[in-house]
Amino acid sequence: MASLSAFLQEPTVTDSAPLKFKPYTRQSIASARQWQFMSPELREAVEVVSRVLPFRTNAYVMDQLIDWSSIPDDPIYRLVFPHRDMLQPQEYAQLRELVLFKKDEAAIDKLVRAIRMRMNPHPAGQMTHNVPRVNDAPLRGLQHKYKETVLFFPSAGQSCHAYCTFCFRWPQFVGMDDLKFDASETTELVAYLATCPEVTDVLITGGDPMIMNTRSLAVFLESLLVPELAHIQNIRIGTKAVAYWPQRFVTDRDADDLMRLFEKVVAAGKNLAIMGHYSHAVELRNAMAQKAVKRIVSTGATLRMQGPLIRHINEDPASWAELWTTGVRLGAIPYYMFVERDTGPSEYFSLPLARAHDIFQAAFQMVSGLSRTVRGPSMSAFPGKVVIDGVVTIHGEKLFALQFLQARNPDWVRKPFFAKYDETATWMDHLVPAFGKSKFFFEGADEGFVQAPTAKVIPIRTAQRADAGRCRQ
Ligand code: SF4
Repeated sequence: MASLSAFLQEPTVTDSAPLKFKPYTRQSIASARQWQFMSPELREAVEVVSRVLPFRTNAYVMDQLIDWSSIPDDPIYRLVFPHRDMLQPQEYAQLRELVLFKKDEAAIDKLVRAIRMRMNPHPAGQMTHNVPRVNDAPLRGLQHKYKETVLFFPSAGQSCHAYCTFCFRWPQFVGMDDLKFDASETTELVAYLATCPEVTDVLITGGDPMIMNTRSLAVFLESLLVPELAHIQNIRIGTKAVAYWPQRFVTDRDADDLMRLFEKVVAAGKNLAIMGHYSHAVELRNAMAQKAVKRIVSTGATLRMQGPLIRHINEDPASWAELWTTGVRLGAIPYYMFVERDTGPSEYFSLPLARAHDIFQAAFQMVSGLSRTVRGPSMSAFPGKVVIDGVVTIHGEKLFALQFLQARNPDWVRKPFFAKYDETATWMDHLVPAFGKSKFFFEGADEGFVQAPTAKVIPIRTAQRADAGRCRQ
């Protein structure tokens, strides 16, 4: 067995690019070279916790992003490797007993299902409020929460090059089929969009749509370029491939075809916005990751940087400042710092809002104006995206100053409102209105925006003429 110091001196597999993507999962991780440097406790945690939460990594993440001399505290190790504290102590003990000793698969499945349901698998009303319906049936693979933006989940894009342990879309990766969003083609999407003239943005998301090969992705993108969808101005693609597998844009077999596809979308008059998910400065330090950014922006697409603030992973303001500064130098645009959502192992990852605000402010103060396009910390809560603007004292009362950056009802956007300062609150639900009020201005108010409950899916050629305006009521 090689020593860790000898191992760290060795050239890595990913030094000899191009490398073919191959994931490591619970079943195959023991074949990774680094497995031997993990303690029995860390290996056991992977074996037990990955029964509940999705686990996937790859050679690039293992070789280039994780510093194995710093595990388990290395941020990217924390980001992708399950830890025992991600389950409650009694849950871990029970599951450990079943997995390692009793090996009772039926009992394991039952316990795993119970733990997952405790973890709030679909927060912020995704299953109840965001799915458009036609003829009283939900449109599979679509969400329409904000008036101008529709989310589309292509079925072939419902996995990622590695999985984040905090992922708010984790149910999609663990076979909770009843809670899964996906669509295998775009007929319903296109027909729905044709009835929604006020929709300007489509976000293709997952999982990670960049897990698809270029030919498959082209089918989805090109379907949005038809004349009937001239009102769609911005096509966004949410992806973490920029961090977990930048080879997708540089050396993959069809990476050049991908660049041509991006150019085609731009040439069709659309703004193609790659919404790059970055978690830590280390993800943008190496040459491959930097080249990916350069190639993306050279096509005329834009690359926006966003990611959640996660305890154990990116609490350091200097990491955010470095990430944004490097991104801007390469041509990317800092966009959002999110608050960790109230799903999955959120107790392990969440930070108090007060601390999130301090971290954002400290990072913001370290960067030049070009990086200050970033917004945050922002909560994607049930009523909308709420940003913590600051901590203020009014009439002797210490308060959080808040506003909506996005909202179910567009009239709520950018209206300042206040909540009592609370050092321990980690999410919107924990906040109490200021000035003795019993509720926030938007609670109980008309949500304003309702997605096409009576719209029919009709052929694209006649959709606009016959059903225009059905999208909103
Ligand atoms: S890349 Fe995004 S969708 Fe994929 S595991 Fe991470 S947070 Fe989840």
